Amino acid sequence: MQANTKADVVIVGAGIIGAMAAYRLQKDGRQVLLLERTAVAAGASAGNAGILAFPEIIPIAAPGLLLKAPKWLLDPLGPLSIRPAYGLKIAPWLWRLWRASAKASFARGVAAQTAMMRLAAEEMERIRDVPELSAFIDNTGTLDLYDSEASFNAAAGDWLEKEKAGFEFTPVGRTEIEELQPGLAPQFRHAMYGRSGLQVNDPKAFTKAVCAQAVARGAVIRMAEVVDIAPVSSGGGIVSLADGTKVKASTVVLAGGAWSKKLAARLGDTVPLETERGYNTTLPEQAFALTRQLYFNDHGFVVTPLAQGIRVGGAVEFAGLELEPNYRRSKALLSKAARFLPDLNSGGGTEWMGFRPSMPDSLPVIGPSAASRDIIYAFGHGHLGLTQSAATGALVSDLAAGRTPGIPLTAFRAGRFS
Ligand SMILES: Cc1cc2nc3c(=O)[nH]c(=O)nc-3n(C[C@H](O)[C@H](O)[C@H](O)COP(=O)(O)OP(=O)(O)OC[C@H]3O[C@@H](n4cnc5c(N)ncnc54)[C@H](O)[C@@H]3O)c2cc1C
Repeated sequence: MQANTKADVVIVGAGIIGAMAAYRLQKDGRQVLLLERTAVAAGASAGNAGILAFPEIIPIAAPGLLLKAPKWLLDPLGPLSIRPAYGLKIAPWLWRLWRASAKASFARGVAAQTAMMRLAAEEMERIRDVPELSAFIDNTGTLDLYDSEASFNAAAGDWLEKEKAGFEFTPVGRTEIEELQPGLAPQFRHAMYGRSGLQVNDPKAFTKAVCAQAVARGAVIRMAEVVDIAPVSSGGGIVSLADGTKVKASTVVLAGGAWSKKLAARLGDTVPLETERGYNTTLPEQAFALTRQLYFNDHGFVVTPLAQGIRVGGAVEFAGLELEPNYRRSKALLSKAARFLPDLNSGGGTEWMGFRPSMPDSLPVIGPSAASRDIIYAFGHGHLGLTQSAATGALVSDLAAGRTPGIPLTAFRAGRFS
């Protein structure tokens, strides 16, 4: 294959992962060309809940998953649903999810996620030191709410793991809950309070601001769809664009979020990447006097205070990348939120659906492709892409420079399911 233009580093995808990789590589002295087919922050990075969830070290594939999942699946608008038209397609992924919930795999997953989250917290602190980015990060604190004493007690093991990993939380009862967040329904008598919980107050603007920092250091962003990536035997890769252009680059980074699977397959890596769709509604700020991040843990959704208002959403729908959104899911979450926050004014909101790029073991894919060490993967961050973005940027720049990465990457390799 002949290239008709050249670049030092090409990054595919300008979501938060591509943005952070561009920023770090550019800081490392590399010259980045960031290719995006739609717009900067067009995917999951635009409308997520904004949480920097460093303590979330427990993979979704946890022992006991099979006890919870059927109950959730029975309610088509509940925390977890599978669109009938997608049932057969998602079956192999769910099988792998179940396999990953076995005790030994789960323990490996917790260890890998803990290392990743420590690095993520450290690297996000560096981002917080950048004056143009620090205003996007707020310390609002977290309140993890449970419907009953039984569900609070059932989560005790997870909290113990988080404590062991160095994250601090305080169990609180009704009086403290009321002080921390006035206006919650009386059923919430058991919660965990995280004083140091951080969040991004505008995920879309943050992604754009990180890109702007990369551009200020010399990166170039170009709107283009990448249709193929191929290795070059003498080193580097060739990136083919939909308009016929072929770019020869010394390093290629695939950060295409939920759309990365096909390009990875072209490079010889069959990765079980699926999308866990998530829905939310952003209400005007005056909809409720929200003091901090609220997690309704028995219902799989969160309410977060953002610059543009209050975002209510979460949950998981398996329906692939093509089926049309089902906004009854965001409406269902909103009506639950109105039950749990009786003073919430649920009118005037904006609905959104995003594609989480998810692997069955809740760990991202970070590392070289099978085809070439110069073609590096950075996708599959599932529910935690914003949280882990600064760490992924750092790891990608280590790999590109041939340095030993900040944490071992064995658990994140593309071929771990083959
Ligand atoms: C409802 C919801 C709530 C969430 N809440 C949180 C949260 O609170 N905290 C958290 O940490 N995470 C959260 N997440 C997850 C987080 O949003 C994602 O993990 C993260 O945004 C993934 O970033 P990304 O850059 O990999 O993908 P994306 O943001 O999807 O970006 C990928 C980009 O690549 C581009 N692209 C793809 N293929 C090509 C191609 N062939 N050529 C050119 N461009 C291409 C796409 O257009 C897109 O812009 C949430 C997700 C959802 C859906």
